[in-house]
Amino acid sequence: MKIIRLGLALVMAAGLAAACQKSPGAVDAKRLAAAAGNAEWLSYGKDYNEQRFSPLDKVSAANVGELGLAWHAQFDTDRGQEATPLMVDGVLYTSTAWSKVFAFDAKTGKLLWKYDPKVEGAKGFDACCDVVNRGVAIWDGKVFVGTIDGRLVALNAKTGAVAWEQQTTDKSKPYTITGAPRVVKGRVLIGNGGAEYGVRGYISAYDAQTGKLAWRFYTVPNPNGQPDGAASDKVFAEKAAATWSDGDWKKTGGGGTVWDSIVHDPELNLVYIGVGNGNPWNHRIRSGGKGDNLFLSSIVALNADTGEYVWHYQTTPAETWDYTATQHIMLADLNIGGAVRKVLMQAPKNGFFYVIDRANGKLISAKPYTNITWATGVDPATGRPIETANARYAAGPELQVPGPLGAHNWQPMAFNPKTGLVYIPTNIAPFQYTDEKGFAYKAGAWNVAVDFTANATPPDPATLAQLNKMIHGQLLAWDPVAQKAVWTVEHPHFWNAGVLSTAGGLVFQGNAQGEFAAYDAASGKKLWSSPVGNGVIAAPMTYELDGEQYVAIMVGAGGGGQISAPGSLPARPRLPGRLMVYKLGGKAAPPAFPAPPQLPPLDLNQIKSSGDAQHGFALFHQNCQVCHGPNASGGWMPDLKRSPITASAESWKQVVIDGANASRGMASFARFLSPKDAEDIRAYVLSEARTAAAVATPAAPAASQRARAPAAGGGR
Ligand code: CA
Repeated sequence: MKIIRLGLALVMAAGLAAACQKSPGAVDAKRLAAAAGNAEWLSYGKDYNEQRFSPLDKVSAANVGELGLAWHAQFDTDRGQEATPLMVDGVLYTSTAWSKVFAFDAKTGKLLWKYDPKVEGAKGFDACCDVVNRGVAIWDGKVFVGTIDGRLVALNAKTGAVAWEQQTTDKSKPYTITGAPRVVKGRVLIGNGGAEYGVRGYISAYDAQTGKLAWRFYTVPNPNGQPDGAASDKVFAEKAAATWSDGDWKKTGGGGTVWDSIVHDPELNLVYIGVGNGNPWNHRIRSGGKGDNLFLSSIVALNADTGEYVWHYQTTPAETWDYTATQHIMLADLNIGGAVRKVLMQAPKNGFFYVIDRANGKLISAKPYTNITWATGVDPATGRPIETANARYAAGPELQVPGPLGAHNWQPMAFNPKTGLVYIPTNIAPFQYTDEKGFAYKAGAWNVAVDFTANATPPDPATLAQLNKMIHGQLLAWDPVAQKAVWTVEHPHFWNAGVLSTAGGLVFQGNAQGEFAAYDAASGKKLWSSPVGNGVIAAPMTYELDGEQYVAIMVGAGGGGQISAPGSLPARPRLPGRLMVYKLGGKAAPPAFPAPPQLPPLDLNQIKSSGDAQHGFALFHQNCQVCHGPNASGGWMPDLKRSPITASAESWKQVVIDGANASRGMASFARFLSPKDAEDIRAYVLSEARTAAAVATPAAPAASQRARAPAAGGGR
């Protein structure tokens, strides 16, 4: 133990010396390679292993009860907060919704600078899962952020001034960036999102100094059959293009976006990327029901210098459920059967926990980490899942877990090498998969070829109760060698937060009901918790400065968690995002959040619509549900059932067709809906408002408990 501590002190002293000599944020390959053992947080997952394990132990199971707020900051957006802050040379860097970047003195919380890329509000339409940002990267005095409109921006770490900026995507297509960049060998690696709408996925590497493109790897073949002049050309010509058949992917681009996990192994000189779902989701429509469609839902290992293919492991061949393999990839050396193996671990959406030999991509083991109904296991010989009879919903609708949100989503997990456990934030929400009848690709629209009207809230209470019973979330401690659960903490709601693990024997996690908590790493016993005033989805991080250990977390509910599950989340208050930083004996108290304004119910006797509510029901669930919730329940957005905009046909048209609220993220739908369609949707929302009013009682407004009120003041 003493030796480890001495080593840590030396690494810290070396870091300090480097900081004195160079500009702030002088992170280089050597410093990043040593980061696993140090007191800072240098990259999205802390270091290149992405274990999210800190060796700090000043905050421990013995004293975590004394944890209190050291400082906090409040942001100017009320959308979801998904970022993990970095702490380098005494400065804490974080990003918020709408891709803004902030730098704080990590000890005092003093704001040093901020940067706003000024993303056009209407671009929010292209973000399937909120206008979130998961964090920044830092290298050689520069801070890098990917923006929701597809730019990669390099900022001076000391001043926040723009050093360079690159548009990494075709602006005419619905690409977005929500993920954190990573820096590998002096190049900034960045992917993108958009596979629900219709894009072709890839990852790019840009020179950190100049912003010049170094290489690009596409994850799906070029629909025109031609090479791209990219690092991926060879593998598609040799084998991957042959796994695709005729289908709508030739119109949509096929999907396969690399929107989250990008991990570097310096020793093997590889970069591992997690690849997303196909577009459309429905494999029958996308690829005629034929072929595995490489590299959808795969982990792909690339040469870190050239971006060329080395190996792949496809978790979900012929993906047809939005079962991405973009989820957190972490590296570890595990003792398996008496031998130390270099592995990578992933708990992708499909519900299997994978341990893979990261040198060659061979499966070591895979077991379901939660209840799943689409497959019974993974064939150890082929590595392919053994699917259940109607998993592909060919014979009709199939109510299945996991749904498109996965058994685990982007919320990072953590590993503790001392307990040997991986801590996974699981989310179980069922989804009824069924073909969208008459599906026709519309450029730029939600194009999944799966019928979302089948996932409206069931009208009868018994079915709803049955569904709600299936929905739950867990903090799961998983033994990756034995492939079994060791302990679980049950959460009442399914969409909870990412995880941090520390040498203090602690696991930290926030949750949907607005609590930040610490658990005993060995037993799962809750040792400390503190209310934070809003739901939490982001992962915490920790750092040491001047002898004190700090634990930081971004607070703000949001993200993709509303898309499939009826009635499963607490009201999402429209409250400004916050950064909360704790230390032992911290005494700061944040000002209370203002009570979220509750809009009064509309005077439904006075409001009429000429629209066709039944037609509006179908249009709503295909066009509006993902943001506004099944049955207009609220989603991440204001409750349309109480919105003054719903009160008149004219104000509704101004917003839905004319784009009056585009600057706040509500783009015009004139590309996809006629004014008559819009009025039909309004008629449907009014019918839901009437249903809510009918069942509400003054004492307990059961049906409106899920209603969300918009923030006063019109922030975004
Ligand atoms: Ca997706």
